[in-house]
Amino acid sequence: MLELTDVEVRYGAIRAVRGISLKAEKGELVALLGANGAGKTSTLMCIAGALKAAAGTIRLDGRDVTSATPEAMVRNGVATVTETRDVFPDLTVAENLTLGSYIRRSDRAGVAEDREKMFALFPRLAERYGQPAGTLSGGEQQMLVIARAILSRPRILLLDEPSLGLAPVIVDQIFEMIGVLKRSGLTIVLVEQNAAKALAVADRAYVMRLGRIAASGSAAEIGATTDLGALYLGG
Ligand code: ATP
Repeated sequence: MLELTDVEVRYGAIRAVRGISLKAEKGELVALLGANGAGKTSTLMCIAGALKAAAGTIRLDGRDVTSATPEAMVRNGVATVTETRDVFPDLTVAENLTLGSYIRRSDRAGVAEDREKMFALFPRLAERYGQPAGTLSGGEQQMLVIARAILSRPRILLLDEPSLGLAPVIVDQIFEMIGVLKRSGLTIVLVEQNAAKALAVADRAYVMRLGRIAASGSAAEIGATTDLGALYLGG
């Protein structure tokens, strides 16, 4: 469904991503692991169209989308949740969700149905429907940005570090919800520092190191053959 071939991302002279190839099949949850600075976020932002690939190709269902804009990628069914969790702080939870469904304005019934599904999946959001998003806890904001992304009814969800800075009990809840989304058939590319958590929900994983893929395989294989502690240290 999604296929990257020899993709490079550069920031001026810095080669953040040095020719990586990876794919995600329909319904798969693929984890992208690696230490700080390995190039995971740059890879994700390149798929999202927010960073231009300096080389290589990105294909979606066989179609070349390497040069697509972020807006075009959203219309292509790719939704992105960045690690910065940018909610619109002065808007309510409900208004934030409405912005997520903006590209489906003509599908009112479908949007209402998906909104109910998101409230069932994230009951805390339902309880805080009219509350300004800026007053939510970090975990609730994470739930909101995921729910908002789902309201665009994506075929692929790109998730960047959903566990970042959250308490362990909230991290468990977020991963449970990621599991529910995966079982609903959504294709997910998950960037995570928390390798153990990511491998527990992933089908396959790629380990990035210094802008390259250092290892890849089923989540079970990567879990068994990779020193997860060393991953954090760049080993
Ligand atoms: P983290 O988990 O810390 O987000 P990462 O694996 O996602 O790490 P990237 O954020 O993709 O890594 O960064 C890869 C490399 O590119 C790093 O060396 C980083 O310093 C560099 N880099 C990222 N963004 C920029 C930028 N805007 N300008 C210059 N260099 C950048």
